[in-house]
Amino acid sequence: MAKLTVSDLDLKGKKVLMRVDFNVPIKDGVIGNDNRIVAALPTIKYVSEHGGKAILLSHLGRIKKEEDKPGLSMRPVAERLSNLLNKPVTFVPTTEGKQLEDAIDGLSDGDVLVMENTRYEDVKDGEYVKRESGNDPELGKYWASLGDVFVNDAFGTAHRSHASNVGIASNMGQTAAGFLMEKEIKFIGGAVDNPEHPFVAILGGAKVSDKIGVIDNLLAKADKILIGGGMTYTFYAAKGMKIGNSLVEKDKIDLAKEILDKAGDKLVLPTDSVVAEKFDNDAAHKTVEGDIPDGYMALDIGPKSVAEFEDVLKSAKTVVWNGPMGVFEMSNYAEGTLEIGKFLGTLTEAKTIVGGGDSTAAVQQLGVADKLSHISTGGGASLEYLEGKTLPGIAAISDK
Ligand code: AMP
Repeated sequence: MAKLTVSDLDLKGKKVLMRVDFNVPIKDGVIGNDNRIVAALPTIKYVSEHGGKAILLSHLGRIKKEEDKPGLSMRPVAERLSNLLNKPVTFVPTTEGKQLEDAIDGLSDGDVLVMENTRYEDVKDGEYVKRESGNDPELGKYWASLGDVFVNDAFGTAHRSHASNVGIASNMGQTAAGFLMEKEIKFIGGAVDNPEHPFVAILGGAKVSDKIGVIDNLLAKADKILIGGGMTYTFYAAKGMKIGNSLVEKDKIDLAKEILDKAGDKLVLPTDSVVAEKFDNDAAHKTVEGDIPDGYMALDIGPKSVAEFEDVLKSAKTVVWNGPMGVFEMSNYAEGTLEIGKFLGTLTEAKTIVGGGDSTAAVQQLGVADKLSHISTGGGASLEYLEGKTLPGIAAISDK
């Protein structure tokens, strides 16, 4: 069922509680990069321009003790938001009480307010009580009482049941998705529930164990699953191939065998690899087909595999990519990941969806991000979505 979105709401004069994802890298009060604040601007601007009073809530980092609080205040974020919006933003240095309530009462239509880090509620009087991350029912109820409607635009936390997403939504008449959330539901949800075929998934990264849920779910839905990265070699071991010193999860070899049996020719493994003598960019390396020779470890897929993967991808109508094809952080083993990213940028007829830190970094580095249909803003959330799980943060959004 389609979800209510912010553009379905009548916002004029309403107190609009908004859960955004302002969880930016921050050190000594200095913001490392403000991508997430920038990404939240369209929904914030929309609410403000339509006469809503925007009351923004977000978590920032993890708070387990009182001393964690000062370094994780939302104040620098509110200041940056004010610069980006080019208008004043009210910052309230608390998460509950009269100061917050008075500030909200004082808002005019179109104003923007940022509340202190929601995770300040995780520590009370020095005790780690997890009111926010444990979804304390009183806290969600209290925050909901501060607004008239609720807009959830924080996909990155959609796989968690916290007071600031699920807690507020379950105490609010109407909860709508913001534009970022709407796009995640449309593309990732669309790929999982109703993909246009051929549907090809590319899964990489270090471990089979991290991706097993995704492989399982997508085996039932995708036409092909292309495997790359370190997890390849657990599959190689399951097939009885030699893996040299490559990464392997010995306790997952039986599981890999089961997957291979179940998958038939749906699962495509790389046929060649870039192998090195050491886990080092400067180590002697070469490309080999099939077995990984003794004394070598496989650190990237080879050019033949890239060509084979591209051959599968070229007719795809839906592509989901999560996880690098090799040790992308080292330039000598980044080629496979970069080639796949570049190729996705040429697939103009397909819906192309990318999730996960390294695959996202690859398409950004290549400058092809804007040629793709969707770059997910949530790592853990996008993986759980691809696993076919119900994400509590999305489930709590009202149906249209
Ligand atoms: P993940 O977090 O599961 O997406 O995995 C990402 C990590 O997997 C990156 O740090 C890569 O360097 C690593 N990785 C990818 N391919 C390999 C490989 N063949 N051997 C070892 N590590 C790898």
